[in-house]
Amino acid sequence: MANPQTLSQIQELIEIDKKYYLHPTTVPKQFLEKGPKIIFQEGKGIRVTDVKGDTYIDGVSMLWNVNLGHGNQELAQAAYNQMSTIAYSSSFYSYSNPNAVRLAEKVVSIAPGDLSAIFYTSGGSESNDTAFKLARFYWNLKGRPTKKKIISITRSYHGATVSAGTATGIDAFHSFAGSKDSDILHARGHVTNCELGDKTDPNYEGCIRDTIEKVGAENIAAVILEPVQGAGGVHVSPDGYLKAVRDLCTANDVLLIADEVICGFGRTGKWFGVENWDVVPDIMSVAKGITSGYAQLGGVLVNKEIRDTVVEYDQILGHGFTYSGHPTACAVALKNLEIIERDHLVENAKNMEQVLKKGFDYLSDKHKHFAKPRAVGLLAGFDLQADPDTDTAFEQSIRAAAFVVEHCFTNKLILRAADFEEGKNIVAIAPPLIINKEEVEEIISIVDDALTAFEKTL
Ligand code: PMP
Repeated sequence: MANPQTLSQIQELIEIDKKYYLHPTTVPKQFLEKGPKIIFQEGKGIRVTDVKGDTYIDGVSMLWNVNLGHGNQELAQAAYNQMSTIAYSSSFYSYSNPNAVRLAEKVVSIAPGDLSAIFYTSGGSESNDTAFKLARFYWNLKGRPTKKKIISITRSYHGATVSAGTATGIDAFHSFAGSKDSDILHARGHVTNCELGDKTDPNYEGCIRDTIEKVGAENIAAVILEPVQGAGGVHVSPDGYLKAVRDLCTANDVLLIADEVICGFGRTGKWFGVENWDVVPDIMSVAKGITSGYAQLGGVLVNKEIRDTVVEYDQILGHGFTYSGHPTACAVALKNLEIIERDHLVENAKNMEQVLKKGFDYLSDKHKHFAKPRAVGLLAGFDLQADPDTDTAFEQSIRAAAFVVEHCFTNKLILRAADFEEGKNIVAIAPPLIINKEEVEEIISIVDDALTAFEKTL
């Protein structure tokens, strides 16, 4: 274990951080006053230790990505071996490397349906931008160049680049800069139920259908959605929804893009989130769990029809990233997938879902503001409401999720408040897939204490 840093070293880090480092998804003014909330130093399994020497349970796998947990020596060794062999090799201009090749074959072999080839990126936003470009490119190649628009679902999170950021249905992620991809539209999905009402919207796809009708299928390239919305508040697709959207897309010659950046690679107790509803997308974006966060890698899988169409293109495909197919990232991904299979971690996520749900039942019986518990594998969350029976939210001034998350933090459990939406109090739980029963129960017990403390504030 690394030694904790001295108080003066920590103070120095904080001052330098405040002076030189602009942090993503952080309140800048608050950061300037308070500095970093925690400075991580090392981790082992589901736990991370900060520079002061305090150890926390990483209850959200950092950014839903550290699926194998921290300090995995096999992944470190895979990276070391590859880095020692060749620093980097380009994938541009027909160059290739063995790890990228082997990983492509591996990912396609576990992907659902006829997803047949992968285009590598360095992360989720790049994957979604690439998915949009490939969808539009595909329709160009099919002689239907007007099909450009992408429909995304309100409250979704798809990334922070201009196009992926526009697709992100959470206002904070694009309103601050005011720049948008004008070919991206939003439709209400299952979370903010479509105003069309239940009659025309039995599976919550009504607003997507309405948008397709209004804009014209001849102008629409694709619909993008997350099988379980993550950052927007762990919103699970209701049964029937994904299939209804799939059918709608097929009927209108619109491609379906599944954003599996969080769900992919075992998080939901299946290799991919869409498999929970037996739906096969035309395009699938992946990142995060493909390397368990040990290296930056993403990718876009395309179905056989798109792959077979694109490979006939006889000019340069002017798209790609320096780190597309990075040999070290691909080596780590290969080892990561090998371990997930060898250690049955997809099954473990499914089994731990049951333990979590049992814990949620206990919390539900004990705490009257505990509402809407949900878990698909180890992608889980709950709401806090003034009255769950009548679906009544707390008034704005009561920041219940923030309180509970902060209380857990004090008790050395890191969770996440999904409170981008005003008035919503959602707590997300997504621990590493290696977690065991006792560790899940430890999380539930810390949440239990936090809920008790919250109730005392009312
Ligand atoms: N899609 C989803 C569903 C995500 O959760 C995220 C990241 N949280 C992204 C895309 C963007 O990925 P990245 O931050 O790697 O660009």
